Order: sequence, then structure tokens, then C-alpha cells
Amino acid sequence: MSAQRVVVVGGGVAGLSAAYSLRRRGAEVTVLESNRLGSGASAGNAGWLCPAQAGPLPEPGLAADGVRSLLQRDSALYFAPASVPRMLGWLAGFASHCNARDHRHGTEALARLGRRAFELIDRWIDDGVDVPLQRTGLLVCARERDGAQRFLDALQPMRALGHTLPERVLEAGELHEQEPILADVVRAGLLVEEHRHVHPPTLMAALSQRLAAMGVTLEQGAEVLGLEVDGGRVRALRSTAGSVDCDAVVLAAGAWTPRLTRELGVRLPVAPGKGYSFEVRGGPMPRRALLLLEPHVACSPLGDRLRVAGTMEFSGVNARLDQRRVATMVRGVGGMVRDFAPPELEQVWTGMRPIAPDGLPIIDRCPRHENLYLATAYSMLGMTIAAPAGDALAELIMTGRRPPELEPFRAARFPRLWQTGARRIARRPVGGAMG
Ligand SMILES: Cc1cc2nc3c(=O)[nH]c(=O)nc-3n(C[C@H](O)[C@H](O)[C@H](O)COP(=O)(O)OP(=O)(O)OC[C@H]3O[C@@H](n4cnc5c(N)ncnc54)[C@H](O)[C@@H]3O)c2cc1C
Repeated sequence: MSAQRVVVVGGGVAGLSAAYSLRRRGAEVTVLESNRLGSGASAGNAGWLCPAQAGPLPEPGLAADGVRSLLQRDSALYFAPASVPRMLGWLAGFASHCNARDHRHGTEALARLGRRAFELIDRWIDDGVDVPLQRTGLLVCARERDGAQRFLDALQPMRALGHTLPERVLEAGELHEQEPILADVVRAGLLVEEHRHVHPPTLMAALSQRLAAMGVTLEQGAEVLGLEVDGGRVRALRSTAGSVDCDAVVLAAGAWTPRLTRELGVRLPVAPGKGYSFEVRGGPMPRRALLLLEPHVACSPLGDRLRVAGTMEFSGVNARLDQRRVATMVRGVGGMVRDFAPPELEQVWTGMRPIAPDGLPIIDRCPRHENLYLATAYSMLGMTIAAPAGDALAELIMTGRRPPELEPFRAARFPRLWQTGARRIARRPVGGAMG
């Protein structure tokens, strides 16, 4: 019997990870990417591999914060008023998950999925994915002891899953010894030693290179325009690079995935949660990754550059960059790091995290389509969970058996997934400014 031909739509971390595991299991794999490989959300993120920090976005109290933030363009979580009417259904779903029970269930589900993250990334590296892994850990930094203690308490259930976690909060003296660039206002923190980070574009390039060497066909500038469905099976994809026949399809198009499913009459509740990042050279350089709790900003030392990443803005599918939000991030870092006054910012970037209302991924067969699969909504944890998610999905596709860790990520958990009247996929500019 000939190999199963699987087409993966989207060359971000979700698509490339799935492609890797599918190829390992013997599939003939083609990746269709409308832009450049690794040019979407997978480019400018903080690069953290942090399976112990598994909390989904909706958490108790966040719905109220979200309402307040409607009026505050510079708050870490921001809903642009103009995008709210379009998002009412998603927002209602999101608000309904901002409670302790769903947060706990979501955290457990993500933690179970992320359990193999380090093992699989180490395996990629052993297999020739040439990416330096920074193993210097993460220092969580807070102005008040309470903030650091709450963070530590939230991590505790992760011990049961085998994570190596700090026993206690560090006091100011110990913290400043660990990290002399911290300002005096930083008075408590904790060191998560198991945390690792990478330079995301390097990981994307190294993974793409390895895939090419494994015989995966990688098509860049190939925007998928439609799916040819016959009898509940996708037979082929129409793309700007021509038509591609397939036995199975994985939709891993990040924040654009709902555009692809809309044509099939599937209303995928995935919203774009825009984040920002920039890089600084020559300023204070931390020894390890920092999470600055109060401005909620991530800092990743990457060679001679410090990458600063954060914010969550819901303003629709676009690459518009709001300089006021960048300025807020600069101020946030400056408030907690000594002498942080960069004369210029480099690689100022924005990208969209694909986010479902419950903050959990959708990794499943697409209902009513025998051979169409979804690998999206990786939200704030795509770099961390992509390898285990791709591996579990490949098992589902190639064997028909659903690994138990995928159970919480079924598409059918969303009511009203089906809409009446399919819509054609609206084209977006190929090679558009995506960061
Ligand atoms: C500021 C910020 C910081 C973050 N930090 C971290 C972190 O430290 N650790 C972590 O684990 N996660 C982090 N994340 C989250 C992570 O970046 C995302 O979850 C992840 O990158 C999503 O990957 P993806 O492959 O689903 O989407 P993307 O990377 O966006 O890839 C989707 C791809 O699909 C392509 N595409 C779209 N439509 C089509 C079409 N019709 N045809 C063909 N191709 C198409 C796009 O061009 C794109 O390349 C962060 C995100 C942000 C924004």
C-alpha cells in the first residue's frame, strides 16, 4: 500500500511539528505556507519552553479585568472597542470560562499535553534539528512577596507531573544576587530551573531544514484558497501554487484557521490574540529569562540581544502595530530593570496567537470530515506544546487511535460549531506584513 499523503496547511510551529511526527510515522508530507515558513506567531514570540506554566488564558477575575481594559489601550489585556461587536459570541464563551474550576481543568489538560515537551525537543535535537537550547532557567520577578507566592502556589500541582519546581519564594537579597540588573523595587521572586528557551526563528529554520532533509515537501508562498470535498472527504486543496491531492489534511494556519474552515460551514471559535515583541542590544542583559510579573512582560536573553515580549490585544486579524503598547512594554521593563533605557528598539514585531474561548488547543478530526484535522488554538503556549501536540495528532491520523492526552481538545466541545451557509475563503495578501 502506498504511503498516506498528508498536506499540512501552515508552516508555523504547529504545522511544522505535526509534519515532523507524521513523516516519522511514514506519511508523505507536504507543507503549504502562504508566507515564509515560521513567519507568523511563531517568529517573534519569547521562545519559552515552559510546560509547568500551563494555565489557560481565561482565569478567575479576568472577565472583569477585560471589561475595564476596554477603555485602556495600554493595559496588558486589551479589547479594541471596534472588534467587540464581531467577537460577542467568543467573548461570552471566554467570560464563561473565567472561573476557578475551568482554569484548574484547563491547566491539568495542558500540563498533561506538555509533559513530553522537553523529551520530544531533545529528541528533535538528537535527530539533527540544530537549535541551541538555553538551559539557564527562568527568574520570576515581583514587586511584592504576595505576587511571587501566588505564582509559586499556582505551580505546585505541577510537581505531581514530574516538574522540578522551586520550594520557596526568594527574598530581595537572594534575588538581586541571582540577577544584579534588577531594580530595588523588585522584592521577591522564584527561580524555575527546568525552564528553557530558544531563539524562535532559529528553531523554525532548523526544523524546516530537518524536514526538508527527511523528504517533506515545503512550499512557501503557497496560500490555500479552498478544499475540494467529496463525500465527507477532502480530496484536494486549491492553492496559489496549484492543486494538491491528499489522503488527509491538517489545518494548522494559526489565527487564520477559521477562514479556512468557514468555507466548509464550520465556525471555529478561534480569535487572534495579538502580542508584541522587540529586541534591544547593548543594554543590561539578564543571566536568564525573566518574567516581570507586574507589567506581565517576558524577557529572553538571546546572544547579544534581549528580546522583550508580551501583551494581549484583541483587535481583529491584522498586523497593525500600536506604538503606544510598545512604549508601555518599554516602561514596564524600565520599572523593574536597572538602566533599561534603550536608545532604539530592533525587530519591533506583532503576531497573533490563535485563541479559543476556553484558552485550550483544538487538536482533533474536524467533525463531519473523515480526513480533515485541526491543530490550532495553541494560544500562549504554542512553542511549548507544539511538539507533543504534533506527535499525538500524528498518532491519531496514522493509527486512528486517539492518545488520551488529546481528549480535552476535541472540537465538538464547542456548541454551535456548525453554521448554515458556507462562505468562500477571502484571500489575504501573500507575503503581507506579518512581522
Ligand atoms: C508575544 C508573544 C509571545 C509568546 N511567547 C511564547 C512563549 O514564550 N512560549 C510559548 O510556548 N508560546 C509563546 N507564544 C505563543 C506561540 O507563539 C503561538 O502559540 C504559536 O506560535 C502558534 O503557532 P501556529 O503554528 O499555530 O501559528 P503561526 O505561527 O501563526 O503559523 C500559522 C501559519 O499559517 C500560515 N497560513 C495562514 N493562512 C494560510 C493559508 N490559507 N494557506 C497557507 N498558509 C496559511 C501563516 O502564514 C502562518 O505562517 C507567544 C506568542 C506571542 C504573540
